[in-house]
Amino acid sequence: MSAVEDLTERLLKGEPRAIARAISKVENGTEDAPELMKAVFPQTGNALIVGITGSPGAGKSSLVDKLALFYKDEGEKIGIVCVDPTSPFSGGAILGDRIRMQTLGLDKNVFIRSMATRGNLGGLSRATVDAVAILDAAGFDKIIVETVGVGQDEVEIVKTADVSVVVLVPGMGDDIQAIKAGIMEIGDVFVINKADREGVLRTEKELEALLSLAHRPDFWNPPIVKTVATENKGIEDLSKAIESYNDFQKQGRISLTRRTDIARWRLLELLREKLLTDLLSKNGTNAKLDNLALEIAEKRNNPYSAVEEIINSIMKINHLGIATKEIDEALKFWQDALGLENVHTEEVAEQKVRVAMLPIGETKIELLEPTSEDSPIAKFLEKRGGGIHHIAVEVENIEASLSKLKAEGARLIDEKPRVGAEGCLIAFVHPAATGGVLLELVQSKNESKK
Ligand code: ZN
Repeated sequence: MSAVEDLTERLLKGEPRAIARAISKVENGTEDAPELMKAVFPQTGNALIVGITGSPGAGKSSLVDKLALFYKDEGEKIGIVCVDPTSPFSGGAILGDRIRMQTLGLDKNVFIRSMATRGNLGGLSRATVDAVAILDAAGFDKIIVETVGVGQDEVEIVKTADVSVVVLVPGMGDDIQAIKAGIMEIGDVFVINKADREGVLRTEKELEALLSLAHRPDFWNPPIVKTVATENKGIEDLSKAIESYNDFQKQGRISLTRRTDIARWRLLELLREKLLTDLLSKNGTNAKLDNLALEIAEKRNNPYSAVEEIINSIMKINHLGIATKEIDEALKFWQDALGLENVHTEEVAEQKVRVAMLPIGETKIELLEPTSEDSPIAKFLEKRGGGIHHIAVEVENIEASLSKLKAEGARLIDEKPRVGAEGCLIAFVHPAATGGVLLELVQSKNESKK
């Protein structure tokens, strides 16, 4: 049994230490984290995930603790994931968690964990939803995701919950206006905490007025619950309000729509992180990043050109151009015998060629057939009788690449880009500059920023 299989087996049994280690793995993005999550994912979907957000000072932590205790008294297993993008702590329960664990009772029916930001690569949102999935698979009945503030990351995370709760306090009339843009839309349940304070009625009226203006696609009318968390008041009402939205969701197809939206968001998060990690793991990219950052700070460069430079530096082969007398004849090998697919045939009048594009892995084979006797391909065939005619390298900004090559003294065939096959901008570099290979630069159409 592999180490990950062993860890998975133990976490599925609900072993707290295995759960903590698994969460550390997703938090740190270790190499075996994907294997772990692949095993965890099929075991998820049983827990009710409750997201709780609101301005700092709204008393969210005590509210969450009281709600957790309420669930615990009902005989349920509770997981709490606390999201704090501002905390530098990472990799285990921090002091605050330990203190809270003592309040909640040190047993295996309650698990609490803070998620901190993991450096400049982002990934907090992804790590948090993974931690929730781990707790779900580990058999927790309710998982509460609590945010410290109402930042962009935190709101995104709360949106992934089954039920989102927004916590307000009385006497923050202006604040309701201020926060409504960010978090009013995501509240399925609203809580006015510290409801023993003055101004609770006014806050309630304002909230009702705002909610009456909102048009939810699911026509749900979010309930407003009043609580005094420190005195354990209103907690049962809150649990009922959460339950009622959960029941409401289960009735329609809303639940599937919501889960599909969440899955899409999650895919994009993961993809963003993976692509960025892959890019930065390429040799020298980090050093390049440091250099460019310094250049920008010293106003010798700008972020937009710098990004183009980074992407340019990870060029790939867009296609290999192969000269042939007749495309149809050549296809007998490349398509019929080898099994590639001809996805695009086109005549490029300007270059007096007909081309066929056959994708192969990340690149393509471009078959070139002359359409007249003075075509460059006709001359090539005459001289060499076919074969590899050119290599095409993909660039982010073809004009920038051309001026750089020119500055380096490379001999260019085209000083200005022209339009090639599939509407891409292309330019040729003379074989004299490359050691005997005709080189084509390609800027893909959809990658053009102009
Ligand atoms: Zn080409």
